[in-house]
Amino acid sequence: MHRAYLSLGSNLDSPPRQINNALKRVASIQKSYIVSTSLFYETPSYGPINQPNFFNVAVSLDTHLDPEALLSNIQDIEKKQGRIRSVEKWGARIIDIDIMLFDNITLKTPQLTIPHYDMHNRAFMIIPLLEIAPKICLPNGQKLSSILNNLDYNAIKDIRKI
Ligand code: ATP
Ligand code: CA
Ligand code: CA
Repeated sequence: MHRAYLSLGSNLDSPPRQINNALKRVASIQKSYIVSTSLFYETPSYGPINQPNFFNVAVSLDTHLDPEALLSNIQDIEKKQGRIRSVEKWGARIIDIDIMLFDNITLKTPQLTIPHYDMHNRAFMIIPLLEIAPKICLPNGQKLSSILNNLDYNAIKDIRKI
């Protein structure tokens, strides 16, 4: 059994509903079981401005799938949910599901980089992840809680606080 951590994000077409639908689909991925789900966090968009705020959630998943099979399953979910890939990098999207961590592995293939290549710069990934896994480290041993100290995360609010 492997432990994977996923990041879900949406900023189009009723984002909380999109995240809820994606969570149901993640829960039914073959050979996989959701262990925990973070609160929903509302976060300003990353990169291009003039986009609606995002909603972000972290999920821990126990899975018997390998990383490539897990990626293929989450990409199927994105497609089923109607994600259209815009030309713009980091454009608005109905649903985005990324693998942040998978056990303690590091992996770099044309399709898949684990840990997620930019997660150490993204408070909207790290804050929900720390909520469900407060002591979690990168494969290089760095604590995510110490990485967060170097990031500006004031604008990221869990929706109980809005
Ligand atoms: P970013 O990757 O900067 O968060 P994005 O999520 O908008 O941007 P996408 O268009 O969703 O980028 O994905 C582009 C490709 O990234 C996917 O087709 C997938 O093969 C690849 N990829 C590499 N590593 C990962 C990962 N850890 N999780 C999900 N996709 C990944
Ligand atoms: Ca992403
Ligand atoms: Ca993605």
